[in-house]
Amino acid sequence: MQITRNSVDTAKGPADWFTGDVYIDAVAAAPPPSRVAANLVHFMPGARTHWHHHPLSQTVFVTEGIGLCQRRGGPIEVIRPGDRVLFEADEEHWHGAAPNRLMVHVAINEADADHEVVHWLEPVTDDEYRAAPAIT
Ligand code: MN
Repeated sequence: MQITRNSVDTAKGPADWFTGDVYIDAVAAAPPPSRVAANLVHFMPGARTHWHHHPLSQTVFVTEGIGLCQRRGGPIEVIRPGDRVLFEADEEHWHGAAPNRLMVHVAINEADADHEVVHWLEPVTDDEYRAAPAIT
């Protein structure tokens, strides 16, 4: 058994992966041969990931606020607490907060045999982001 006390610093999401202010706390980080990791991610209003894809899919579970997500070629979807989103393996997508609300989700990722969890692409432009439906 291994207890990790509440002593691990929150990480700031780097600007080459995210637009806006994003904060990441490790939820699960078991050593190999486990390949599963979970993070609690806080997106401030307007913040979002860049376009990206995951080699072995990703599940996110929204715990607070109002968020947005989109797969390449699809509509922007509004996601709320209790919603769970599965991004399929290699499906290009982004996720983040609504313009006027923060969003918090748990993200569960599995690394592939090369230890890759995510492949980052270009930022979601303001024009792409503004295509989101109104939050009502
Ligand atoms: Mn993702």
